[in-house]
Amino acid sequence: MQETAPKLKEFQTYIDGKWAGAQSGKTFETFNPYTGEPWALIPECGPEDAALAVEAAARAFETGPWPSLTATARGKALRRIAGLIEKHAGHLAEIEVRDNGKLISEMLAQTKYLPEWFYYYGGLADKIQGAVVPVDRPEHFNYILREPVGVCAFIIPWNSPLMLAGWKLAPALAAGCTVVIKPSEYTSASLLEFMRLVIAEADIPPGVVNVVTGYGAVAGEALVTHPKVAKVAFTGGTVTGARVNELAAKTFKKVSLELGGKSPNIVFDDCIMDDAVSGAISGIFAATGQTCIAGSRLLVQESIHDVFVEKLVAMARQAKLGDPSQFETQVGPVTTPPQYRKVLSYIDIAKGEGATCVLGGGPASKEEGGGTYFVKPTIFTGVDNKMRIAQEEVFGPVLSVIKFKDEDGAVRIANDIAYGLGAGVWTQSVKRAHNMARRIKAGTVWVNTYRAVSFLMPFGGYKASGLGRENGIEAIDGYLQSKSVWINNGPGGGNPFIMKTAS
Ligand code: NDP
Repeated sequence: MQETAPKLKEFQTYIDGKWAGAQSGKTFETFNPYTGEPWALIPECGPEDAALAVEAAARAFETGPWPSLTATARGKALRRIAGLIEKHAGHLAEIEVRDNGKLISEMLAQTKYLPEWFYYYGGLADKIQGAVVPVDRPEHFNYILREPVGVCAFIIPWNSPLMLAGWKLAPALAAGCTVVIKPSEYTSASLLEFMRLVIAEADIPPGVVNVVTGYGAVAGEALVTHPKVAKVAFTGGTVTGARVNELAAKTFKKVSLELGGKSPNIVFDDCIMDDAVSGAISGIFAATGQTCIAGSRLLVQESIHDVFVEKLVAMARQAKLGDPSQFETQVGPVTTPPQYRKVLSYIDIAKGEGATCVLGGGPASKEEGGGTYFVKPTIFTGVDNKMRIAQEEVFGPVLSVIKFKDEDGAVRIANDIAYGLGAGVWTQSVKRAHNMARRIKAGTVWVNTYRAVSFLMPFGGYKASGLGRENGIEAIDGYLQSKSVWINNGPGGGNPFIMKTAS
């Protein structure tokens, strides 16, 4: 008897408050990276769908209920969104796991924490204030209005789709913008479920939040080049980020970019060794290393190098690979087939460069808890910071250990890189902690912890790691622009042929 293939769940896009397929009728399959099996069909939107979504967002920005809501009412809308995410956190986390293969424990922690962004920016919505400026002309009354930039396009990667979309959505809505979101072709389902269970239920007017699914080079570029999009907020790889920036510049869009990293996790000999070992492991093997802030360069002071590496390898060896939907699993699969191939190719590159593989170093078989798209937690020692394995983002469970002599040496190595997203410092010296935090060129420095984020703390990159900041009060500035208003309360309008530069 012939086996029938399981029926795939069919998703639709959400544009202008309505559910629909792509206008072309095309779809593509989305895969579970743990099983390697397709489980759902996603609309393959093209430029025509992107244009519909942008037009809907532009209409919702100009007319309709959204622009006439008070800032306080917008704040309440964000709090409704927060409440609905809380209600559906478990289901949304399960969808994330099915699509991106990350651990249920991490995805659940993310979806349970995400409401805080909407509570925080909901509270901030009616605290966005302009200013009255004591301008240098007595007859004038001048003030500054803070206005939303307009339609925003969000381009979201596959590693933490809901969290990274939420980081952008909450401040954008608080500012009064409208939005079109393009999730990664690999992980569109969670965002579409978010639209169904959260946005559609939260009484958000049609057109305020839209989703266009499809391929980056088609649907993504159509958004980035659309003249009615005022701002692009992108998270993803540095190469794609540079292209998005270039395309957006042609129509003078505002751009924020949250890109890659090759973050140094720096262990001094005065650290609490067990804490630093766990910090090094979680820095690279959590999320299977697929996080922009992965502590992928482990800088270890030479005086403790050998003993530290021994402890590190012993702990990493214990990592339990397996089904990411099980709470006891510690390392899941790599999310996408191209990423899997990329990670394995970097392992070959490191071996070819002469680094010493002290753990892992290849695919993990079914017997090892792995299977489809699994890579063994891999550690290289004897890495020189000039090697490609030290300079280029792998985005997988591959750690490069680099020796350093003293504080100056650690700073030199840490900063000798194109990236500047995160950095870790493990020390018990208060003086050293503050000095290192000041000297490292990165958007975030963690001392005696790693990979902590909060809605309250700005997040973003120095150098090739990005432009702009997400989270914290600063993030809302990226969705606002200032308007200077001049009111002449005095007589006359001035000399028509001379610019008024002074009173
Ligand atoms: P990309 O940067 O290519 O993808 C991120 C997002 O951009 C996806 O939604 C993608 O859509 C979209 N996109 C791709 N091309 C374009 C384009 N021309 N115009 C507009 N949008 C576009 O990441 P990859 O998935 O290819 O991963 C490549 C590398 O990027 C990884 O190996 C890793 O090093 C890094 N990365 C960094 C992330 C971070 O958090 N900083 C997250 C993910 C990856 P689609 O998926 O449909 O192509």
